[in-house]
Amino acid sequence: MKIFYRTEQVASNTAAYSPSAYKPKLVVEDWLARGIIQRDDIHSFEPVTRADLQRVHAPQMVDDVLDLKRRNGFRNQDAEVAASLPYTSGSMLAAARWALAHREAVCSPTSGFHHAGFEEPEGYCTFNGLMVTAVKLLDEGLVRHVAILDCDVHYGNGTDAIIARLGLEDRIANHSMGAHFESENGIGLHPKYFKAWLAQVLKLSAHADLVLYQAGADPHTNDPLGGLLTTREMLARDLTVFRTLQGRPLAWNLAGGYQRDASGSIEPVLQLHRNTANACVRAGSPK
Ligand SMILES: [Zn+2]
Repeated sequence: MKIFYRTEQVASNTAAYSPSAYKPKLVVEDWLARGIIQRDDIHSFEPVTRADLQRVHAPQMVDDVLDLKRRNGFRNQDAEVAASLPYTSGSMLAAARWALAHREAVCSPTSGFHHAGFEEPEGYCTFNGLMVTAVKLLDEGLVRHVAILDCDVHYGNGTDAIIARLGLEDRIANHSMGAHFESENGIGLHPKYFKAWLAQVLKLSAHADLVLYQAGADPHTNDPLGGLLTTREMLARDLTVFRTLQGRPLAWNLAGGYQRDASGSIEPVLQLHRNTANACVRAGSPK
């Protein structure tokens, strides 16, 4: 399984409730230590440019965040976070390019995209790397239709807002489980509806040239912001996605996950991401 990672996409930002900024490093170390990936599976990539970000966000907002004149999605003005942002979107874009060229499932170990709207960072999301990627590839003529399969438990409101703003409804389909399963108390609907929903959106994605899959860890029953799917149900989710889309261009990322163990570590989240990576490998994506 190929993975698009470089250390520049990581920021320590450990004070935040969301571990998104430092999670990529922990995930990559975990997968290497357990032999899920080898060092030569890790590919470098170029960061996206300001112009790439400004294609899907208000130009002034992009400049102000990167120049530390306004708050990012973590609601701080941390220079390290700002510097990491062109790399997180760059990782997603590079993974998608590889997936398109090789028609396989590849990983971008990134989070913090889907709440970011055209004008505003929101909910630990500063720039919408899903939309940066989809729009860049549409502009280059490499794809005509992109499906976003967003299995983070929260609604990808920023993605929908940017699609509407740019009038791309006929080019980009945003299937966000959060639009259906996120409820005010965070409990959501019954898991059996999730299974039916997933089957339906996979069918709807059959014609897409590229699928971007947010394999969020936060739908888990123990997640403080989730509470929908067991570990087994989440593994079934991932296997269904990877098996159904085998041989098709599929770039997947980590998205949310907020569990901690008694010592405060994000091990329960790492465990869920590990399961997704193993599912990707098991589903037999060719090297
Ligand atoms: Zn989430």
